[in-house]
Amino acid sequence: MRVEDIDEQRSTMESAERQLSDLSMLGLDWDGDVLYQSSRHDAYRAAIAQLDTYECYCSRRDIQEASRAPHAKPGMYPGTCRDLTPGQRGERRAELAAQNRHPAIRLRAEVDHFTVRDRLRGEVTGDVDDFILLRGGQEPGWAYNLAVVADDAYQDIDQVVRGDDLLDSAARQAYLCTLLGAAIPEYVHVPLVLNARGQRLAKRDGAVTLREMLVDAPLTHVISSLASSLGYEGISTPVELLAVFDPTTLSLEPFIFTGLTETAAGCADK
Ligand SMILES: [Zn+2]
Repeated sequence: MRVEDIDEQRSTMESAERQLSDLSMLGLDWDGDVLYQSSRHDAYRAAIAQLDTYECYCSRRDIQEASRAPHAKPGMYPGTCRDLTPGQRGERRAELAAQNRHPAIRLRAEVDHFTVRDRLRGEVTGDVDDFILLRGGQEPGWAYNLAVVADDAYQDIDQVVRGDDLLDSAARQAYLCTLLGAAIPEYVHVPLVLNARGQRLAKRDGAVTLREMLVDAPLTHVISSLASSLGYEGISTPVELLAVFDPTTLSLEPFIFTGLTETAAGCADK
């Protein structure tokens, strides 16, 4: 179990504890202690030290402007800072320091694409650019791509199951595994749960957290509703679901959530 608490949104310890308690309540357990990314600074620093990297002084706007150039590929870093001379680097570093900003650190990638195997989607080839390992700016922070690869290797993760909104980053992460001498995990990118308008679930969609659902429905009905989203009816514990679950029958389409299933709501009314 890992708590990814280093992202820009500053997930709080409180929300981490709530998520761990939600998982326990649903009957999902884990091996060993919880690993917090916020305790792994030395490991991320050590990982960066193993890689061929360079400083990048670009602002978000610099990158947006550069990627409007005729040959630029959308979403790919155009390499602006890759081949600067030591003198140019000194100047750019001083300019940033005057604004109290730090440079970012980027990987000097030797490929521009990489192919991963996904259990549901087969071979998926994605773009690889000189992606950020350490974000710059006023408060530097480790990039998710670096942290997740270093931590998966540290925790011997051999299978990554996650939302298919992250499918695009699998190529960069798997490539980074090869550079750090880590085994590439098996990927399983599953469809997201969306609202009726095809958007990610949010507060405006009503009761979307476990706590909110439990106001109106008993826990077994929340679990049966989750199982029903995967096509399994009459399930009330994760152990029952595990006994029948067949990953090869998973849908590749998003699941549209419009509230707990009628069975569950009906039972709650009684
Ligand atoms: Zn740059």
